Amino acid sequence: MKEFQLIDQYFCGRGPQRRDVKHGIGDDCALVQPSENKQLAISCDTLVEGVHFFADMPAWALGYKALAVNLSDLAAMGAEPAWFTLGLSLPSVDEAWLAGFSEGLFEAAEYYGIALIGGDTTQSPVKVIAVTVNGQVPEGKALTRFGARSGDWIYVTGTLGDSALGLDLLRGRQQAQPNQKVAPEHSEFLIERHYRPTPRVLAGQALRGLASAAIDLSDGLVSDIGHILNASNVGATIEVDKLPLSAAMKESVALEEALGYALTGGEDYELLFTVPEAQRGALEIALAHAGVKFVRIGQISAGGGLKLSFNGQPFAPVNKGFEHF
Ligand code: ADP
Ligand code: MG
Repeated sequence: MKEFQLIDQYFCGRGPQRRDVKHGIGDDCALVQPSENKQLAISCDTLVEGVHFFADMPAWALGYKALAVNLSDLAAMGAEPAWFTLGLSLPSVDEAWLAGFSEGLFEAAEYYGIALIGGDTTQSPVKVIAVTVNGQVPEGKALTRFGARSGDWIYVTGTLGDSALGLDLLRGRQQAQPNQKVAPEHSEFLIERHYRPTPRVLAGQALRGLASAAIDLSDGLVSDIGHILNASNVGATIEVDKLPLSAAMKESVALEEALGYALTGGEDYELLFTVPEAQRGALEIALAHAGVKFVRIGQISAGGGLKLSFNGQPFAPVNKGFEHF
């Protein structure tokens, strides 16, 4: 199968058709019509086999996740998804794999209303998936990492640590430990959280004008909040007892270990954001409309780096030592 046949069969004409795509796949460039008074939000994330995913990761999961992690970046800026391109580097043309990959990819694309407008297809020793997403955000309304102020409250969406525990289950790490039999339904949920993260796209848009800063959690809470603290030149206290844990997490590992996953586990793709006291009421209403669970986990301080507390006492985490695989 030739490159253009492959594109035709698996990628052309699939996913949502948007009226602002004036000229899609098939020419030297795609032509899109940005909305008036909006800024473009653009982000790129690359997934490399053996570095970011196992060679045996199901194709549909990889397709879904490659787009979802990029959509998460749009969410963190409060942007609305519009268009994306796909850089696909593969060792060989495996049609069963391409069918699964494109199915997962377009499932996410349909759900979030983002159109595939082009890409590049090449051969390479291992699979490399590079997605670039384009979103739109009303001029001057994007959420950034630099707006947090002393006294702002810190929130997160969803639950934390599930993806990292799911990854450990895939690696057979948790199962190997005695006295820690993870129930099959929990295992399924946790692995699903690793394979199919939910980019908080609507929540991100709902936070425009309310949140003073935002970031999506890709590397782990402790690491990612550091980006907000550095960019905003502030400190923070996280109340570890308030971290949101799923039932699957709580019932599968000891609390201390669960908190380790929640603090340092990667790839949750939840949003962490800061909100001034004056906006708390509006926040409750806005996020309830977006249908997303969220919880307050701490407060921004004038300085002093990142402090962790547990029921008001200083907290020293067990080091989970999360590595990026
Ligand atoms: P060029 O040689 O001008 O770079 P290509 O032959 O690489 O063009 O691509 C032809 C068309 O197919 C272009 O519109 C390109 O954007 C699109 N395309 C190539 N690979 C992909 C892909 N993996 N997914 C979607 N579109 C693709
Ligand atoms: Mg090309």
